[in-house]
Amino acid sequence: MTSTDLSPIGLTATPDGTLPCAVCGIPTTGSKAKYPVLSRIVPMASGERLEEMSAGAGIDLPTCSDCQGIAEQARTIVSAHRGLVRLLGTVATWQTTTALYALDTIGQPLPGPDIEPHRLGSLVHRLASPGAGTMYSRRFSPVMLADASTKFSARERWSAVDPVALADCRSGFLDWKADGRPIRALAHPGRRRCEWCGTATFPGRRVSEVWFGDLCAKCHAVQEAGGTSYEAMWEAIDPDRAIRRRRPYVPDIDGVRPYSQSPGGDGTPWSHLGGVLALHERVKRLVEAS
Ligand SMILES: [Zn+2]
Ligand SMILES: [Zn+2]
Repeated sequence: MTSTDLSPIGLTATPDGTLPCAVCGIPTTGSKAKYPVLSRIVPMASGERLEEMSAGAGIDLPTCSDCQGIAEQARTIVSAHRGLVRLLGTVATWQTTTALYALDTIGQPLPGPDIEPHRLGSLVHRLASPGAGTMYSRRFSPVMLADASTKFSARERWSAVDPVALADCRSGFLDWKADGRPIRALAHPGRRRCEWCGTATFPGRRVSEVWFGDLCAKCHAVQEAGGTSYEAMWEAIDPDRAIRRRRPYVPDIDGVRPYSQSPGGDGTPWSHLGGVLALHERVKRLVEAS
């Protein structure tokens, strides 16, 4: 696998009697499919312009046996996952196929039909689009690149993939891997605590999904909705609004400060104020006394 090749380096002259594989780009033979060309890029003295093609324009390309095998593998997977078909409809097989192209492009093993449904859903979500971008036919369809020509094929499978498309596959692959990780307690990237609730960790799979600046995901959600640290505390001690629903106004709790103004505690949420349970007890007493 020479997926690190840059596209001009990864091209070679197409031998007589062959055409580039529509998927991985190596010279091959066999039955062809038509890829529609809607417009083509024409180089100009300054920049380039897009020229519309006449209706029905297209280019016929074969698919090599390896790439046919990948498409077959995708069909096998999809036939074992009717849930994906219910979710995506008629594009389920195509999107699974291109997701497998993405994996093959970066030299990763392909899953079998025993892949867990949520892992398959995540695979398609993360890699179907990047995988479609690796196809050799993309040089022609739907927009024909200025240097696209069947006279050139990939030197090896995938060696002509655009570096940007390759990078998309790599980052999509990392996202797919991360989706499969168990949820765990994630510390703030700067090892700080949440400025409002004072928590040191938040459960999740990626730091970027649970820490927003100096707020944890929970406090951030309250802030996004226009709330303050006081409302964030109420969300923590009265998540189902059971206390607040029975009151015409929110009871006033003395001495409530965000962590940033009153640091302390053990790194669990609101521990600088004694913790969620203690706060809950205080509020209950307040409510009962009023
Ligand atoms: Zn191929
Ligand atoms: Zn917080």
